[in-house]
Amino acid sequence: MTKMQSDAHMHDDHVHHTHDGHDCRHAEDHRRHAAEALARAERICRERGLRLTPIRRQALEALHADHRPVGAYDLADRISPAGGRRLAPISIYRALDFLVEQGFVHRLSSKNAYIACLHGHGANEVVAFLICESCGGVDEDSSPAMKKAVAAIAENRQFSPSHQMVEIVGRCEHCRNAGS
Ligand SMILES: [Zn+2]
Ligand SMILES: [Zn+2]
Repeated sequence: MTKMQSDAHMHDDHVHHTHDGHDCRHAEDHRRHAAEALARAERICRERGLRLTPIRRQALEALHADHRPVGAYDLADRISPAGGRRLAPISIYRALDFLVEQGFVHRLSSKNAYIACLHGHGANEVVAFLICESCGGVDEDSSPAMKKAVAAIAENRQFSPSHQMVEIVGRCEHCRNAGS
């Protein structure tokens, strides 16, 4: 298990968005963190004078219910009423844009999918994603050194970043131990 190199207390727990969902020893932690993250999102929206509309809330809940990144169409299926009309892609994308802008959700470019943030990262924070090719799990981590390095690269090129994500693809600790 890696140690989160973070300052804020909410970062102390190592939360794994990963594994098969069965008998995961992190499952209980995950549920608790998801509930906290939803409450935090509601509070932040109130503070910023924004509305967590039903579709935004449903999208955020559905992303928190999964340990893996979810594509927009898949998400539309999950939150459309059973037997009812499927939500229009534009509505889903608008809700997701909002959630990403507010820092509640991250978009993984390499997967064209979304994952709920359990860490309260801001929208412009530098975050590293450890993406497992075997189980599809995604872990997040960050460090002051990485933040500095990315800022220096951008500054050298007079580049103004809007999203700062490092996507690292490979095999997670769990799959490495389970496999050969
Ligand atoms: Zn995050
Ligand atoms: Zn894995």
